[in-house]
Amino acid sequence: MYLQLLGTATSQGVPVIGCHCAACTSTDPRDQRLRTSAVLCAGEERLSIDAGPDFRTQMLGARVERLDGILLTHEHNDHTAGIDDVRPFCFMQQMDMPVYCLDRVATELRERFAYAFTNYPGVPKLDVRPVDFGTTLPFGGKQLHLLRVNHGKLPILGFRVGGLAYLTDVKTLPDATLDALTGLDTLIISCLNYHGTHSHLSVEETLAYVARLQPRRAVLFHLSHRLGPHAEFNESLPDGVEVGYDGLRLEV
Ligand SMILES: [Zn+2]
Ligand SMILES: [Zn+2]
Ligand SMILES: [Zn+2]
Repeated sequence: MYLQLLGTATSQGVPVIGCHCAACTSTDPRDQRLRTSAVLCAGEERLSIDAGPDFRTQMLGARVERLDGILLTHEHNDHTAGIDDVRPFCFMQQMDMPVYCLDRVATELRERFAYAFTNYPGVPKLDVRPVDFGTTLPFGGKQLHLLRVNHGKLPILGFRVGGLAYLTDVKTLPDATLDALTGLDTLIISCLNYHGTHSHLSVEETLAYVARLQPRRAVLFHLSHRLGPHAEFNESLPDGVEVGYDGLRLEV
């Protein structure tokens, strides 16, 4: 099993429209960042982690031609706005797409994508399956342990599968989540910018969690252009911590 990062930018993507900073004008392909997303792959099975505005481009780029489900970490646009593009999978596979998410997110999907829950011909067919923290989701012969992440005041989903943990849009991690993250091989964790916000970790705060959890390898993502070009930011990080990029594959 492996997880491939399909997007590593925060909500505006990198480059940002109209910005001429060093990251946004970089010619390094690693500085071309789509909105945060990943695909978990086991044999022929594929689970998309989120379905943001770049979902279609990401599915084409990673040559995902069959999808078994989508796990939505939370309802924000940069994680859900592309869900309409699940249609080709529904048509090809002749199925309603399983969408795993919190109850609150399920309610919001039914409001924001109301047309998808009608019988109008050609709509994306979503089979919404509410899940909760502390439960598991089977995939590819393994179990995803669903963990609570505090995105500011908003509780959202993260997960651990085997020795890999995927935590996006983090501000704080509750004790129960920290307890579930011991002995990690790979920690994928969000890191917005140098200052942080009420709902996102700064570089310093992210590195403090990495130091506490002691994974063999930590990969930072959900990045703002303000962190600068990939190569320079990567160089500034301690041993065992690296900057993620679109396309990076991580073994589970
Ligand atoms: Zn910029
Ligand atoms: Zn968010
Ligand atoms: Zn986000």
